[in-house]
Amino acid sequence: MTTRYRGRFAPSPTGPLHFGSLVTALASYLEARRHQGTWLVRIEDLDPLRESQSATDRILASLHAHALHADEPVRFQSQRHQAYASVIEQLLAKGLAYRCPCSRKELEANQMRHPPGCRDRALADPDTTYAIRFRCEDHIHRWQDQLLGSQTQVVRAELDDPVIRRKEGFYAYQLAVVVDDIDQRITHVVRGSDLLDTTPVQQQIYQALDAQTPAWLHIPVILNAQGQKLSKQTHAPALDDTQAGHNLWRALAALGQQPPADLAQAAPADVLHWATTHWQVSQLPRHEQMV
Ligand code: GLU
Repeated sequence: MTTRYRGRFAPSPTGPLHFGSLVTALASYLEARRHQGTWLVRIEDLDPLRESQSATDRILASLHAHALHADEPVRFQSQRHQAYASVIEQLLAKGLAYRCPCSRKELEANQMRHPPGCRDRALADPDTTYAIRFRCEDHIHRWQDQLLGSQTQVVRAELDDPVIRRKEGFYAYQLAVVVDDIDQRITHVVRGSDLLDTTPVQQQIYQALDAQTPAWLHIPVILNAQGQKLSKQTHAPALDDTQAGHNLWRALAALGQQPPADLAQAAPADVLHWATTHWQVSQLPRHEQMV
């Protein structure tokens, strides 16, 4: 039996949807449609200090305006703390995670990578605050990205150990993304190539949890005129939802598809209909795109 394709779009609600996130959402949606698969939306609201309910509401309203409707109820990572806590317990019990009291100063002195000598350091004072880190293995990861082809990345034990629960008690992206992709039986991840480098560490977490890895396809990120990735930090403007059809048309063009000019003012559902029947992965650009 072949496994049914299950893909997802998993935004962190740090701000409203912008053109770069629409491009990612659309690519993951169209890939799922091409495989007659299921497409999910997951809100990665792990960090209440950077994220807000209003951003979540705006993202969901914007996806709706663009006719990008998920096939199953939207999942919120803020409601999944128990699952993350229990995985962390398992990893600690297996010796695959450890408590790390390193201060910001110590990390800064080591270019924000994790300095050696902490993995087996006993916590002197029971009141010490600590983060929990996943214990990476030294490994040269060779893997195939479905768009970018063969990738080689080196993971260095301890130096690359990611935080999986922060000192403030928040669960971290690297763990939550893997736990939920496993739990939601995601078979294919389509996301921006700014996350390419996170893949090998995530592969190690899959392995630690005895789970099969999904296939990954990283699409080029969208840059503004200054060559910066569109994001909240670079002040990417929110999408104008009243122009949803046109936004989708532009997103298709950014994805190397060639939507006909007369669709540029069409309704979102019509643009998506054209896109689902004409979507060609081979047309995707391999390099960053400027808008
Ligand atoms: N939540 C992550 C972000 O918005 C993306 C997670 C993923 O696709 O792996 O950058």
